[in-house]
Amino acid sequence: MAEVLVLVDHVDGEVKKVTYELLTAARAVGEPSAVVVGAPGTAGKVKESLASYGAAKVYVAESDDANGYLVTPKVDALSTVAGQASPAAVLVAATSEGKEIAGRLAIRLGGGLLVDAVGVNSDGSVDQSIFGGAFSVKAKAAKGTPVISVRPGGVEAEPAEGAAAEEAVSLPAVDAAKSAKITGVEPVVGGDRPELTEASIVVSGGRGVGSAEKFEVVEKLADALGAAVGASRAAVDSGYYPAQFQVGQTGKTVSPQLYVALGISGAIQHRAGMQTSKTIVAVNKDPEAPIFEIADFGVVGDLFNVAPQLTEEVAKRKG
Ligand SMILES: Cc1cc2nc3c(=O)[nH]c(=O)nc-3n(C[C@H](O)[C@H](O)[C@H](O)COP(=O)(O)OP(=O)(O)OC[C@H]3O[C@@H](n4cnc5c(N)ncnc54)[C@H](O)[C@@H]3O)c2cc1C
Repeated sequence: MAEVLVLVDHVDGEVKKVTYELLTAARAVGEPSAVVVGAPGTAGKVKESLASYGAAKVYVAESDDANGYLVTPKVDALSTVAGQASPAAVLVAATSEGKEIAGRLAIRLGGGLLVDAVGVNSDGSVDQSIFGGAFSVKAKAAKGTPVISVRPGGVEAEPAEGAAAEEAVSLPAVDAAKSAKITGVEPVVGGDRPELTEASIVVSGGRGVGSAEKFEVVEKLADALGAAVGASRAAVDSGYYPAQFQVGQTGKTVSPQLYVALGISGAIQHRAGMQTSKTIVAVNKDPEAPIFEIADFGVVGDLFNVAPQLTEEVAKRKG
């Protein structure tokens, strides 16, 4: 069976959920091989979890340079392994970094680039959801090794047994003159909340929240549930919440177990980023709001009345 390379998305050896989604998607096309790029010692931390999502092989590209430059070491590692293994496809997460890696790699391999896939099929074609989710299309690379970026949350991760046989990859020395070097790293000031695209619960606020100060009502419910906070574009554009938390067509795609929408009308561009959530709960004072068309549970009411009661009830049940 042909190998399918999966670039492991991790932070200092902590594997991100999207990696398991990529390993699951890869199994449709062939045998998943994980490619780990990181500082010496990284593979030891991630190997077991990669095996539990079906990685048959783990290519280990460790070097002191791996974390010192932006995308170059990852592109180098993938192109080196692709040269040896002739994979059926290469899968990376469709994050901003992943998309840059995918584009550069496709140029190096001379293959086709398929972006923002939400499904990967056995014939190597991908499913894409375009125009804010209004159309679903299938696309296939016409030549070479397809490089596919898969949207976080687009595919559901399913565990599978994998041998995770290690194979060392030596990274070429980075040409410092041509590569962007990382000179410092500052942790994101975001408190203890889970990352938006990784969270199993997301509580989002829209224009209905009314101001940046009042977004506290969204944060309180999120914290009671151990959830990430999201926002609609109208909330972001109005300055209620930072842009990095925007959910939707031009924001992040999320697919949590539970999505709570507070004061969000449910425009198609917002739905594009959250409609695959397992359970959708909407609170809106307008009974005609389109969000209710996709909500599993809807409350017609004032969010400032409903959300605090929910927060209190969740806290009571936890305590
Ligand atoms: C190219 C393009 C890309 C876009 N990308 C995105 C995107 O990525 N993400 C995104 O979200 N949007 C996106 N949009 C914008 C999108 O079309 C909508 O304008 C936006 O989603 C509306 O946000 P909203 O639901 O918060 O605001 P509104 O549509 O104004 O809805 C506010 C809702 O709050 C309710 N409400 C008001 N007060 C209360 C209260 N006290 N209690 C309960 N309910 C209340 C109202 O009944 C209303 O339904 C995009 C648009 C375009 C053209």
